[in-house]
Amino acid sequence: MRFLKTPTNKYLTLVTTAGIIFFLSFINYPQYSTKEWLTMLAIAGTILLLNYYTILLPPNGNSLSMDSSVYLACLFLYGLPFTLNVLLIHSIVFSLLQRKIVWWKHIFNFSTYALMIISSYYAFIFIGGTIGSIHFNNLVPYLIALSSYFAINVVLLGVYFILAAAESLESIFKEIIKEILSPYLSTLMLSLVLAILMSKESLFGLFLFTCIAFLLSLAFKQHFHLFKKISEKANKDFLTGLNNHGYFKEILEKEVTSAKESDQPLCVVLLDIDDFKKYNDLYGHIQGDHLLQEFGSLVKTASEAENYTVARYGGEEFSIIMPNTTYQKAISFMNELRKKTNDTYYKGVESLPYGCLSFSAGIAECEKETYNISELLNKADQAMYAAKGQGKNLVHIYNQYSEYSAQRSLSLEKELEEAEHQLRIFLSKDVYTYRHSKRVYQYAVNFSRILSLSDYERKSLILGALIHDIGKIEIPRDILNKKGKLEPHEWEMMKKHVTWGKEIISTNKKLEDLIPLVELHHERFDGNGYPYGLKGKSIPKLARILCIIDSFDAMTTERPYQKTKTFNEAIVELRICSGKQFDPQFVEPFIAMIKQFDDTGEILEDEPLVVNC
Ligand code: GH3
Ligand code: MG
Ligand code: MG
Repeated sequence: MRFLKTPTNKYLTLVTTAGIIFFLSFINYPQYSTKEWLTMLAIAGTILLLNYYTILLPPNGNSLSMDSSVYLACLFLYGLPFTLNVLLIHSIVFSLLQRKIVWWKHIFNFSTYALMIISSYYAFIFIGGTIGSIHFNNLVPYLIALSSYFAINVVLLGVYFILAAAESLESIFKEIIKEILSPYLSTLMLSLVLAILMSKESLFGLFLFTCIAFLLSLAFKQHFHLFKKISEKANKDFLTGLNNHGYFKEILEKEVTSAKESDQPLCVVLLDIDDFKKYNDLYGHIQGDHLLQEFGSLVKTASEAENYTVARYGGEEFSIIMPNTTYQKAISFMNELRKKTNDTYYKGVESLPYGCLSFSAGIAECEKETYNISELLNKADQAMYAAKGQGKNLVHIYNQYSEYSAQRSLSLEKELEEAEHQLRIFLSKDVYTYRHSKRVYQYAVNFSRILSLSDYERKSLILGALIHDIGKIEIPRDILNKKGKLEPHEWEMMKKHVTWGKEIISTNKKLEDLIPLVELHHERFDGNGYPYGLKGKSIPKLARILCIIDSFDAMTTERPYQKTKTFNEAIVELRICSGKQFDPQFVEPFIAMIKQFDDTGEILEDEPLVVNC
């Protein structure tokens, strides 16, 4: 009875019992002729063969067996008891041949097939199908029989996966239907073709069908192996045999998503061989290539022992993805690798400045609020350059408070000037957005003084605040300036300003770092915002801060479609929405800042802040 404790096992027992009961109720043994017994055995043999010679489908190698075509053809020609006998014979032989598969899986499989065949038969008969020969008039019953076979299959498997994998109903069914809809349609076609062949020449028809299925299986196998070979080549770097840049990014994208979902740490490393140009200059490119290969295999061996993924990032740069790894562990791994590199002799390295091969590496750790892989790679890159700057043969971890992160943005004034310039277009189109952006900017300047932000974050917040609504340029004037409530379709368009804003600033490489602020300032802490419905710390910190500032200004200033709140009313509203719309950790500091500046009156200025206009 312990077996029945888990819902999955209860479910398996239920389906198996139902399958067996139905099977026993519908099976009978009329007096079959020798020819019929022979046909039955031949059909069971064909199914057995087809289970070994399946059709392999790229990209994952899912295999498609044509056994269902045979069961359906058998059902249409010989009826239910005959087909159930075929199922029984096949299942017994198959379970004897496949003794490695646990017994209950054999019985569960047998039961699901029995349920599928029985339901399909009764659907066929119910809708007026006739057994014995294949007619065009039976087309609708054939389709209904297949649908029923298909539906029972999807439901039985789907429920199992839901219980076993604890995934959502919708995603499981979508996945199954996507995977098996087109194979099932071909199953029906093939079953009809087989039935027509068999109705003329039962054994010869079956033989022909089996030969075609067998040859198709071989052809698909070859095709699949070719596909695998080519995709492997497309993903590998020609010189070192490591993953190439493009594939590395694909893997990183997946790993970052999964690390965020499972709340596991993840580090990414960029490493660059020191003074490689000098090595090339001394010994030539061919020996340089050789060194890259040898070093690549050293990194690969060390990394694979930890299940890390290595790639040649470009030239003499390599990258490592380290799932389930905190930065402390990443540092110690990298320092060990650095030492091993220093200690390994490669031809000619004695002429390099350190007298050995060395590299400089930067490590960045993925955080919940990491916006995308470019941000992560940028951080690793900065850390790597910091390591180069400090004398090479070093490993550095990205630190947002370090000088290099502050240096990387251009002078704030210059960028503000550019952003302001872009904003001025609102002066004629929608003066409200222009003024709103200016006020939000001023709040950001003041608020950033009291938050403990790095220099880089402070600059990003201020610039992001100024430019956050830039996407509204795309919204028609009549919607922007509409008095009264927006219609649902107008509201939908209004919401798109975040995506349009992202597109606009993506065209300017210098403003790239502001994308999260522009795109995500309408995300809500409770996950009910837009455009993605991100929740809590999945929203980048600066976007969470900007959301508070932006909303406060929206509440307290005159808008075409909303009544204005006093500062005190808006403060009450901020508190009510703390933890829902807003990140609570920033609500009280923001209110404190408002109160402080409200006393001085500084916040209420509405003058051009950067450029006079
Ligand atoms: P640093 O320590 O600052 O990294 O100096 P470096 O000389 O390693 O770096 P730099 O970027 O100045 O030069 C990189 C060199 O790597 C220049 C280029 O010729 C060489 N290189 C890039 N790809 C290959 C390759 O596939 N084979 C060979 N042999 N050399 C390459
Ligand atoms: Mg380089
Ligand atoms: Mg280098």
